[in-house]
Amino acid sequence: MENNKDMRTWLNDFGLSHPLVIAGPCSAETEDQVLKIAHELKDTDATVFRAGIWKPRTRPGMFEGVGAIGLKWLQRVKKETGMLIATEVANAAHVKLALEHDIDILWIGARSTVSPFIVQEIADALNGTDKIVLVKNPVNPDLALWLGGIERLYSANIKKLGAIHRGFSTYEKTRYRNNPEWQLAIEFQNRFPDLPLICDPSHIAGRRDILQEICQTALDLNFDGLMVETHWDPDNAWSDAAQQITPAVLIQMMKDLKIRTETSDAVEFTNKLNTLRTQIDVIDHGMIDTLGKRMKVALSIGELKKQNNVAVLQSKRWNEILGKMILEGQEKGLSEEFILRMFKAIHQESINHQERIING
Ligand code: PEP
Ligand code: MN
Repeated sequence: MENNKDMRTWLNDFGLSHPLVIAGPCSAETEDQVLKIAHELKDTDATVFRAGIWKPRTRPGMFEGVGAIGLKWLQRVKKETGMLIATEVANAAHVKLALEHDIDILWIGARSTVSPFIVQEIADALNGTDKIVLVKNPVNPDLALWLGGIERLYSANIKKLGAIHRGFSTYEKTRYRNNPEWQLAIEFQNRFPDLPLICDPSHIAGRRDILQEICQTALDLNFDGLMVETHWDPDNAWSDAAQQITPAVLIQMMKDLKIRTETSDAVEFTNKLNTLRTQIDVIDHGMIDTLGKRMKVALSIGELKKQNNVAVLQSKRWNEILGKMILEGQEKGLSEEFILRMFKAIHQESINHQERIING
């Protein structure tokens, strides 16, 4: 798939704000709830109204969405507020109904992007239409699967495309519901620089208190928009209650976010610098995280050596590691001297930890 500037023109064609703000409840619950939220969002930064009609729930027995009736409620939203309307589709039947109700933007959820069969079915059902389609990242951190989703739609002649970063599931508990893996989103941008990239801080956070910092990071990384779950009574929402905010809180959050819109040479320079610095921050966080993990493994080795009465320093093994790392470093343009200094420091830290175990 070639890089295609047409892919982002839909943002302009529809006169949509930049950054694009998509807001609305996780789930459409009742007609009153949908309309009340939509009217509170009218005349705010949000130009697109979202609501899930068919809800993919991880476990059965939970609220699975109101179904097709909700599409009529979305139509009322469009008529009464002038906002574009968006919902999730997960099969050909959903697409058919969404098309019949003239839904403007369809998105493919994280649980669907993982399945090439489902994405293909949706792409086939959309072929020949000119809908805007947004593809959420798959649940698991697999860039190829995400790119594959976009490519399947593009091959089905869907050209008004965008991607949504909603974070990735992890086995370990982290402070996020879905780990943001910004590095992966940056790689995505590098592959398709002209594809609008939208951040969904709600599903990344899983809670209200860190939405703003996630939005700021996304904007600093040059994301084109935000999709924020918004409910008039978040605590009593039928799904994802902990992460939803009221329209009033969204308005305040948008005011507090640093959004870079002006363009002069100086501003452009600062914007670029900020983006690159945020990328560096993301990489640095990743390095510390990786070093922390390495240290944990080194400690397990320390335990094992202790149980088996083996000396901490194993020179042969250490020299092998160094030799390999020097070669790998060269491939990445890193000098031998740097690799030696860095690994000496890392190795020393491991030995210190292991000695504490053995002597402690
Ligand atoms: C949603 O947007 O409500 C949703 C179900 O999201 P995801 O597919 O990212 O889990
Ligand atoms: Mn949700």
